[in-house]
Amino acid sequence: VIENFVELEKLAVLGHGNGGTVYKVLHKSTSSIYALKVLRFNDGSDGVRRQATREVEILKLVDSPFVVRCCSVFHNSGVAAGDLSFVMEYMEGGSLQDLLKSQKTLSEREISAVARRVLLGIHYLHDMQIVHGDIKPSNLLVNGEGEVKIADFGVSHLVEGGGVAWNLSPDSCMGTCAYMSPERFDPERWSGGDGFAGDVWSLGVVALECHVGRFPLTGTGQRPDWPTLMCVMCFGERMEVPETASPEFRSFLERCLEKDWRKRATVDELLEHPFVN
Ligand code: ADP
Ligand code: MG
Repeated sequence: VIENFVELEKLAVLGHGNGGTVYKVLHKSTSSIYALKVLRFNDGSDGVRRQATREVEILKLVDSPFVVRCCSVFHNSGVAAGDLSFVMEYMEGGSLQDLLKSQKTLSEREISAVARRVLLGIHYLHDMQIVHGDIKPSNLLVNGEGEVKIADFGVSHLVEGGGVAWNLSPDSCMGTCAYMSPERFDPERWSGGDGFAGDVWSLGVVALECHVGRFPLTGTGQRPDWPTLMCVMCFGERMEVPETASPEFRSFLERCLEKDWRKRATVDELLEHPFVN
């Protein structure tokens, strides 16, 4: 646990997002490297504030080798620290998105290893009644050993009682909606759903993207805007799984990308799937 914010020296910016800024930092007394995420929400809406608080609450709860670890949380630690900031283990390999940018595609063996770790992470979270809600390449981070872990609980929910009430307006998911499940897009048509099956859908999109080397659900490979994606998801046929994938991989993808969440594979079922074993 890092007790004092002034013990940290910012070395570089690792990422920017809706949530805030992530820095690479040096903990001076131990010479260890960490990542520091700084959230600013004092001028933001109540929604932004609530979500930031939720992100930290969830991070404090989770403790798994498949989820990026949070070591300390600071509240209002002066201007430079933002309104809320937390220290995480540093994932020196960057994100899966960075990896895809440089390598374009991953081999099936690599995708299998990534999928297995993400499934174990999702399994752990779901057991704790946490829906991640934002599984995508930029939120899957790689450490020095090449191990993938789930990060960014910026849109996560703790499920209490009846399930998750997502805020479904297009602005609430800028940049994120490309990996969203059909039931989150179109709750009227795919009614019900507790949110958990949505994480499985997103994993399927990520695995397929790693294979084809571009965003897989639209012909152009561009991350679609809201209306385009709405059309693909709601009126499109079944997801096209490429011939180049092995039979095990195809079957895995088809089980993740089942539009009807009731028929989609559960995390338990996928952990037994030959593709990840
Ligand atoms: P946002 O809510 O803004 O998306 P994230 O928590 O996803 O914030 O972090 C944004 C980016 O910062 C990530 O995509 C990744 O590139 C980088 N990053 C975040 N956490 C770490 C970490 N622990 N180690 C290394 N890089 C990180
Ligand atoms: Mg993110």
